[in-house]
Amino acid sequence: MKTITLIFTAAIILLFPINLFPTDVTVQLAGGIEKIDYDRIDGIDAFSLSQLAALLGERISWETVGISAVMQTDRHRIRFFVNSPYISIDDTVKNLTFPTALIKGNLFVPAETFTPLFDQIRQERITWDKERRIIRIDSEYFTITDLALSTKANGLLIELFISEPKEYEIYESEGNWLNITIPDATVNRRQILARKNKKIIRDLNVFQFEASAQISLRLRRPIEKYSSRFTPNPGRIQISLLDTTVTISPQNGVGKIGPDNKIDRIVIDAGHGGKDYGAIGLKKTKEKKIVLDISKRLAKLIRKEKLLEVVMTRDKDKYISLEERTRIANESKGDVYVSIHANASLKRNIRGFQVFFLAAAKNDDARAAAQLENAPFLAEINSPDDFNSDNLSLILSDMIQNEFQEESADLASMVDREFRKKLSKNTKARAIDQAAFVVLNGVYMPSILVEAAFLTNKDDEKLLNSKKYRQKVAEAIYAGLKRFKAKYESK
Ligand SMILES: [Zn+2]
Repeated sequence: MKTITLIFTAAIILLFPINLFPTDVTVQLAGGIEKIDYDRIDGIDAFSLSQLAALLGERISWETVGISAVMQTDRHRIRFFVNSPYISIDDTVKNLTFPTALIKGNLFVPAETFTPLFDQIRQERITWDKERRIIRIDSEYFTITDLALSTKANGLLIELFISEPKEYEIYESEGNWLNITIPDATVNRRQILARKNKKIIRDLNVFQFEASAQISLRLRRPIEKYSSRFTPNPGRIQISLLDTTVTISPQNGVGKIGPDNKIDRIVIDAGHGGKDYGAIGLKKTKEKKIVLDISKRLAKLIRKEKLLEVVMTRDKDKYISLEERTRIANESKGDVYVSIHANASLKRNIRGFQVFFLAAAKNDDARAAAQLENAPFLAEINSPDDFNSDNLSLILSDMIQNEFQEESADLASMVDREFRKKLSKNTKARAIDQAAFVVLNGVYMPSILVEAAFLTNKDDEKLLNSKKYRQKVAEAIYAGLKRFKAKYESK
């Protein structure tokens, strides 16, 4: 009987030699699976804490080499004495029952008694699986779990993944630091620090404070403009940093809306307003009044169906500067921007509706429309006489719209199609065009500018003065928006 057992044991040793002489412990973390050294101290499972600390982005430093060591985490200080079961966590002495050891320069700790103590002071949930020799590090416990950095044609997108919606605060500090503070949050420091990409950012710091967590990014370029929003599924804070020094490259369509892929908020920009009348018709019809009415009709249609939220840059006869329009659009975190206008020309026979998106103008007519719409804004910057094509190229080099150019062109074509369906019986359909509209520049989302008709044409002016036509314009824009929403949300 005894011989049989012996043979059996020998067979097992031959078949599973690794199981009987283990050399490592598996560490399971969010980022994958790692191995650290395993050993047995007086028959007790032990692992290299030096290696585990390194995996967690921490360090063990020797106070007296081979005698005492310290592990300093964000919140706690653990002190070890080699060959002693006693450790101190901050000012409290704890007994591990079994002693630590120094093996090949590494500090080894008894797995079963050290892990629960370690778990208590860490943000993660840390457990020891004796059967399988696995240390499980569960970062689900964190509220801030990960960071993603991606460069865009016109700036940088920072995404901070967060397990639940949280209040947050962003502020800049000297040395090009952008700091994001989240109260009552616990941050997965190791995971986030692993995202440090020197090509994109200069430096990255993660702080876990008692009542908050802070992520600080040192940027490569001066911070000029940024906008931020919370986006669900997965929950994340998205910060778009705009690099306004980028020059335009029309091919740069990035296939991204928003910055997320949901289209749920439209910014309606009624052109002109207040002291800025816009174009004036032959019968003294004011553009500012016509476009406000169309904008309100559009808002009403959208609010009725509740497919989109509406933000209006103005809903009364009020002057709004370019900066204000852009700020309203970006701060409201709109997904689409539609600026509504009526056109004018020195040639009274010119008529029709037209849809534009922002890009360098290709022809004189488009340039003329842009000049007309840009005039009030440029007047704020320069004296009106200063306005010439050089100013336009200056504005173009400042454009931040190129990231959304493809989507903007797409949206323009969808609205144009609806215009043709609904309005071409009434007036002329003019081709979609592109031009350098200041009012679209600086808006960080796909955007178009529509010219409902020409106030300087007798028949068009009559149309613009009819409720029926204005309603049709609003309906056509809305139909185009719905197409756009359907297309981009199904991507
Ligand atoms: Zn206008």
